[in-house]
Amino acid sequence: MRKSFYKNAKFSDLTTIKVGGNIERFFQPASKASFISLLSEERGPLFILGSGSNTLASDAAFSETVIRTRFGGVECVKKENGKTCIRADAGVIWDDFVRTCVQLGLKGVENLSGVPGTVGAAVVQNIGAYGSEVSESVKEVEVWDREKEKARILTNSDMEFGYRTSLIKEDIKSQPPYAPNPRFVVLSALFCLSSNNFAPIKYAGIAEYLKKPMGYVEKLGDIRRAVLSVRGAKNMLEDPVRYKSKLMANMMPERLKEIPIPDSPNPDRASCGSFFTNPVVSRQKAMLLPQDAPKFHVQDMVKLSAAWLIEQAGFKKGYPLQTDPNAKASLSTSHALAITNRGSATSRDVMKLADKIKKAVWEKFEIDLALEPVLVGLEEK
Ligand SMILES: Cc1cc2nc3c(=O)[nH]c(=O)nc-3n(C[C@H](O)[C@H](O)[C@H](O)COP(=O)(O)OP(=O)(O)OC[C@H]3O[C@@H](n4cnc5c(N)ncnc54)[C@H](O)[C@@H]3O)c2cc1C
Repeated sequence: MRKSFYKNAKFSDLTTIKVGGNIERFFQPASKASFISLLSEERGPLFILGSGSNTLASDAAFSETVIRTRFGGVECVKKENGKTCIRADAGVIWDDFVRTCVQLGLKGVENLSGVPGTVGAAVVQNIGAYGSEVSESVKEVEVWDREKEKARILTNSDMEFGYRTSLIKEDIKSQPPYAPNPRFVVLSALFCLSSNNFAPIKYAGIAEYLKKPMGYVEKLGDIRRAVLSVRGAKNMLEDPVRYKSKLMANMMPERLKEIPIPDSPNPDRASCGSFFTNPVVSRQKAMLLPQDAPKFHVQDMVKLSAAWLIEQAGFKKGYPLQTDPNAKASLSTSHALAITNRGSATSRDVMKLADKIKKAVWEKFEIDLALEPVLVGLEEK
């Protein structure tokens, strides 16, 4: 196969946080077949990129290959135990997939409306929001096994889904020959969803928005509209302005094609979403925290609110813009968990702020915050 690649792509142009250096070889195969053929030729380290909404790359040039997934479609494949099974290729935009499911009256992913990114990354990250996680709807994942050089199926249990993680995400931390990407690359995912135009409201903020009690059974379309509105108010949707660039135009979700694109970027949306995951600690550890600390029991462990810990450690929304209006990186002014690029931040600026927050939370509570985004060429302290 004759391979053509872009020479002038930069992570800063391809990621929502707009940070990161030049990419030596950037490929964008147009079909699943050409993606597979590229994967079988590129045997060394490589990075698979989706929409770049959970990636923080170093400012230094990336000397390996980057392959961006933007191919394929969605098809209904079978009915099984009253559910409709629908296959989506890795390069499908996640929110387009959700929109299709809601339009078809398929229940299970409506609470994940508006999460930026691709289907491939959604299963790697086990995305979650407003009371749902993608792992609840995934039946199996078709992957390319870079070791065996063939496609294979990983079942839901093979995927070892956990909170914002999976077998594939854990493998990202492994060493070469595959790093920074894992042995398994997602080709497509099969979702089995109930054909029911209604679903119960699972999250207090959504219930409040819809003025209905928790558990109230609501139309999928209304849940989707509520989720998009609540996310928008917190600036936890992507900035449509990013799609004005030539390299990003083909990644634009259908929803954004229907609204006017603002002239200038919104710095509160130049983020990776939540920068830290909510820590999960033992019950004994949780008991040492103040009574008003939010605590959610998950089996015999307790999930804490990273946003609460960060605010208690002295970092309010917008930190440090209150005292340094020219700061290059800050917490979002609408969300304490998102680190944002105010326009010219480097990966160093972002990591410096993240390290400062981690250190303060550790000193106050002896709790180690873990970073949610995938780091490329950077190390977590
Ligand atoms: C404003 C905003 C809000 C967000 N809100 C949420 C939220 O509510 N809940 C949530 O869970 N996340 C949220 N996120 C994080 C992000 O949207 C998700 O993690 C998403 O799944 C990332 O998709 P992507 O295609 O942009 O991934 P990328 O950033 O491009 O890649 C992320 C990782 O997945 C790997 N990857 C991508 N495609 C493949 C593939 N085909 N095979 C193997 N590995 C692959 C990459 O190599 C990388 O390691 C938010 C982000 C932003 C910017």
